[in-house]
Amino acid sequence: MSKDICGDCTLCCKLPPIFNEKRDGTLDYDKPFKEFNEWCKNCSTKKGCDIYDDRPDICKGFYCLYAQSKLEGDPMDEAFYPKKSKFFVTIENEARLKEGQVSIYIDETRHYDVFTKAPYNTFVKNLLDNGWKIILNAGKKVYLYQKIGNRYAEFKYPEPFVFGKRNVANPIPMEIVFGSKH
Ligand code: SF4
Ligand code: SF4
Repeated sequence: MSKDICGDCTLCCKLPPIFNEKRDGTLDYDKPFKEFNEWCKNCSTKKGCDIYDDRPDICKGFYCLYAQSKLEGDPMDEAFYPKKSKFFVTIENEARLKEGQVSIYIDETRHYDVFTKAPYNTFVKNLLDNGWKIILNAGKKVYLYQKIGNRYAEFKYPEPFVFGKRNVANPIPMEIVFGSKH
């Protein structure tokens, strides 16, 4: 995040966990810099970073999709400004990009039925129609959405969701919850 791009949005200082990098470049999932769905201790005003000039590199380098679009001079619709929308979209890392996976983090104060309404429904549907998988982090619940055949499937990860523990060798079983109301 960068003040110049983000203004006084700080949603990514609350919703995702932030992990320190280990010497070998992998993330240290055992000692998060900040926890999932909790305000970072350095965001006391909730309008800016108290240690802005010294914020960790991972914060300096992070741009959600909206911020990235502004950075590249082709801004998304203002409805996607995370301060207003209460959610942000991101591709977490190279591995997730290769898997065709997009993540959405949404504030627990906003119900994620927003994705069934304009303008967000078109955005989400386009992603799924183009073969992307969407991981939705909503409060402490985590869902996967993907198009299977001509159906839109929803899967729920068991709680508590453990970041960094999902891999090919150790998949997390998911419950299919087609059409549930949550
Ligand atoms: S959520 Fe996006 S717009 Fe908001 S502070 Fe983070 S990077 Fe910037
Ligand atoms: S260190 Fe600053 S930029 Fe990073 S999450 Fe905390 S408040 Fe946000």
